[in-house]
Amino acid sequence: MNERPGFALITGASRGIGQAILERLGADGFTLVGTATSAAGAGLISERLAQRGWPGAGWALDLGRADASVLEETVHGFEGRFGPIRVLVNNAGIARDDLLLRMSEEAWQSVLEIDLSAVFRLTRVCLRTMLKERQGRIINMASVVALSGNPGQVNYAAAKGGLLGFTRSLAQEVGSRGITVNAVAPGFIDTDMTRQLNSKQRETLIERIPLKRLGTAADVAACVGFLASGGAGYITGETLQVNGGMYMS
Ligand code: NAP
Repeated sequence: MNERPGFALITGASRGIGQAILERLGADGFTLVGTATSAAGAGLISERLAQRGWPGAGWALDLGRADASVLEETVHGFEGRFGPIRVLVNNAGIARDDLLLRMSEEAWQSVLEIDLSAVFRLTRVCLRTMLKERQGRIINMASVVALSGNPGQVNYAAAKGGLLGFTRSLAQEVGSRGITVNAVAPGFIDTDMTRQLNSKQRETLIERIPLKRLGTAADVAACVGFLASGGAGYITGETLQVNGGMYMS
């Protein structure tokens, strides 16, 4: 899709699904900026890119702390180096599970902050360039629980459900400018986030999945790669489910 050079920005690219997205979009020829919460994590992303000979950089970004002016300054700094932003993958996310009656205000606020409000702030910054350029792809990482619900995850399901409404609304706002906005809703994917489950919980979960396995980060990254590609140019406001059939709608 790139007539002029530009770059793809992936939040939470240090581990898990985000790291797999970095690999996928790098293989697809994108210049990449990937974020991690620490300077060490950002350094590792830069090293990973350099080892493969891919242009791009790591960015130390804590979405809970960065205000709009820092986001704007940094994104514009990368645009000075790499050209306009073409793809934004809002992948970073956290979970703080508990039953509603036991859930602290802090667990509620922090998940809403990182998984939803930060997406609003970063997207607003990146959208300005995309509007000017009249092209762009925004891909938001939701979750199966946004659709199915899940006990113990009212905060996470509310944030990810909000992200789906955000995706559809923004898709309608910016479609006339050649920008697509889509979501990916993974099921249970084998990453640090799900490695907290014990073996009994994993077995029970796998029983419920028609494809009889947890997903891999690469399974999710393949869908992101597709949504960022020219082949997905007529898809917007959509949610791609990557859940091995555990929830069908
Ligand atoms: P993960 O392995 O826990 O990795 C989380 C990533 O987000 C890391 O790169 C982390 O950076 C970054 N991050 C955490 N807090 C952040 C903050 N405050 N500011 C900026 N970045 C932050 O997670 P994952 O399993 O790959 O999940 C990626 C996305 O997929 C999330 O949005 C998650 O909700 C969604 N998802 C995951 C699953 C699953 O089964 N794994 C299922 C459905 C949806 P550091 O490395 O620096 O900590």
